[in-house]
Amino acid sequence: MNTRDFIELSESRSAHNYHPLPVVIASAEGAWVVDVDGNRYLDCLAGYSSLNFGHGNPEILAAARDQLDRVTLTSRAFYHDRFAAFAAGLAELCGKDMILPMNTGAEAVETAIKVARKWGHEVKGVREPNIIVMEDNFHGRTTTIVSFSTDPDARDGYGPYTPGFRIVKYGSAEAIREAVDENTVAVLIEPIQGEAGVLVPPDGYLAQVREICTSAGILMIADEIQSGLGRTGETFACDHEGVVPDMYVLGKALGGGVVPVSAVAADADVLGVIRPGQHGSTFGGNPLACAVGSAVVAILNRGEFQRRARELGAGLHERLRELPGVVAVRGRGLWAGIDIDPSLASGRQVCEALMRRGVLAKDTHGSTIRLAPPLVVTAEDLAWMVDRLGDALSAFQAERQAQPIA
Ligand SMILES: *Cc1c(COP(=O)(O)O)cnc(C)c1O
Repeated sequence: MNTRDFIELSESRSAHNYHPLPVVIASAEGAWVVDVDGNRYLDCLAGYSSLNFGHGNPEILAAARDQLDRVTLTSRAFYHDRFAAFAAGLAELCGKDMILPMNTGAEAVETAIKVARKWGHEVKGVREPNIIVMEDNFHGRTTTIVSFSTDPDARDGYGPYTPGFRIVKYGSAEAIREAVDENTVAVLIEPIQGEAGVLVPPDGYLAQVREICTSAGILMIADEIQSGLGRTGETFACDHEGVVPDMYVLGKALGGGVVPVSAVAADADVLGVIRPGQHGSTFGGNPLACAVGSAVVAILNRGEFQRRARELGAGLHERLRELPGVVAVRGRGLWAGIDIDPSLASGRQVCEALMRRGVLAKDTHGSTIRLAPPLVVTAEDLAWMVDRLGDALSAFQAERQAQPIA
């Protein structure tokens, strides 16, 4: 089959819940992927930050291969010999007493919501708990999570919606302070909003959120599914402000780009509210997931990828700002949201032009494109990519100038 056939069969036999770029990937290594025709592309999406440690990371693959030959699934009805090391290692990385493992990010967010509500009922004695969430949030796709989304695409048509959430403006500590009442049990927040366009909140904001939660006696829950595990140049995006949330929500890169692995991490006075039979997952914490997750924790403990993201990201945002047609650049580490002049091209058009030039990236809303390459990317790869983006944007400008003025 050729590219056209692969795409036609995919589109005719699967729901159209995605609108992929017309590239069919056949293999990958490090920061690069190869399509079915043998063309190479620099992967600047990295599975929405699931591939922080690169495609086919040898250390992660070795752990997975070794585990495939031993035992892959037991269920949590029994103990298995990979579980303890993963739980202890991840808890320690997070500086928390314990973890609760799930599979996808949305499941971990659901777990955090359930834990916060139960903690509210049992520890705070709240009868109708509410959780404060942010405008333009992205926390996943379940019916409860889309109930507090402000993105019409994510939410519309999926009612009736789960109550118990209060939506406030992202970046305003005052808005949180005003929304807290006697029934509030938690604030759920992305330290940087990825899907919204890599929105970095004002300096000091996360520290203020921490302070509000502490003084109100409610839980600060940081969804670090996309921002965490090295992407921003620190293990967690909260680290940039020296903030420690009560609960971390992790996923994506925790699975090393091999299997879905997610978890929440918190202290015993919080996670201890969940007792046998009250929450679970058939696949959560399975031996393969734990072997892969332990390899990821070992990599993060060495700090090399946090350092790479910090060092390689240092000049990146400046260079992107200098490109033609770029209106704004946001981000931290190897993560950038780039607003293109909307009269020049849509984000989708820029991504298509980048694809033709050997770079895979993804647009978010309107004319914003997001860059999040695997952290194994080299300085040369990045310089080449910035060049390709500059070339694509210059071509759009030349095209516009060639058009007669209406
Ligand atoms: C991707 C993402 C999720 C959902 O993860 P899934 O594995 O797709 O369910 C939740 N929160 C954030 C911040 C994310 O980026």
